[in-house]
Amino acid sequence: MIIDCHGHYTTEPKDLHRFRKEQTAAANAKNKAAMPPRAALKLPDDEIRDSIGGNQLKLQRERGTDLTIFSPRASGMGHHIGDESVSIEWSQICNDLIARVVELFPKNFIGVCQLPQSPGVDPKNCAVELERCVRMGFVGCNLNPDPSGGYFNSPPMTDKSWFPLYEKMIELDVPCMIHVSGCCNPAMHTTGSYYLNADTMVFMQVILSDLFKTFPKLKFIIPHGGGAVPFHWGRFRGIALNNGKPELAEIMGDNIFFDTCVYHQPGIDLLTEVVPIDNILFASEMVGAVKGNDPKTGFGFDDTKRYIDKAPISDADRRKIFEGNARRVYPRLKAKAPAAATA
Ligand SMILES: [Zn+2]
Repeated sequence: MIIDCHGHYTTEPKDLHRFRKEQTAAANAKNKAAMPPRAALKLPDDEIRDSIGGNQLKLQRERGTDLTIFSPRASGMGHHIGDESVSIEWSQICNDLIARVVELFPKNFIGVCQLPQSPGVDPKNCAVELERCVRMGFVGCNLNPDPSGGYFNSPPMTDKSWFPLYEKMIELDVPCMIHVSGCCNPAMHTTGSYYLNADTMVFMQVILSDLFKTFPKLKFIIPHGGGAVPFHWGRFRGIALNNGKPELAEIMGDNIFFDTCVYHQPGIDLLTEVVPIDNILFASEMVGAVKGNDPKTGFGFDDTKRYIDKAPISDADRRKIFEGNARRVYPRLKAKAPAAATA
């Protein structure tokens, strides 16, 4: 089985966008009376089925992957929009939509939730929505290290304010993917720089901390290949060692994982050479992070299975990246997709 640990619902029914536009306008105007009613949302099964069938499901089949760990559009989380109540309503709607995708395509998708974070609001408030989603069968959450949308003014992920949420994640046996949302700082492009900056920032925060000594069961997936980390491995390793910390491989241990969303062969070759194989999870982040075909190969940039197929690693290591590691990181997958007898 090939498990893609990073997919977003980027082809949502159009009425969801209408709702969010109206919700954002009402939030910006601080006009609660103008908030669109959730009950008026039109998200029929047929539209959900078509939006998945012609996109993510079609690509799964064409590319030969089996199960996508699926979450709401990351750039749409927009934690900076409105207050906490806006974030709660929006997160519930987006997560419920993921639950419906999973219900319609139970063999192909499994849910990961967005959290109702809000700038300046205690992260522990998100535990309620996380629990609700786990009850619906979700296996993880996306955690935004910068709910401001590009101004990086939240405490580092090693700050105690995050701890109650970490405790809840551990209690529920779910990992988080570190994932920022859309960028409203004009100095950064959302998927080109902001995502990677946040990934790199969080890695640096945690390697100089004792976070995983405090929480040995806490699991962070740092997506987009770990940001700048693999390419600058020597820099991070040197800084860690100079600060009395162990080797990066030891720090990553059973706590930090990178995905394979780097979109070219040399990047994957480097990733698999530098980062311990046990800490790499297969992912594509399709559809939409980088659209279209690479003119040099003729294949989609986000057709990441091709790069893993060609990486100079053993077949046993390839199986770990495609399936085995994901099963360790997302223990709740077991209930949904039992490992094959041969796995
Ligand atoms: Zn993503």
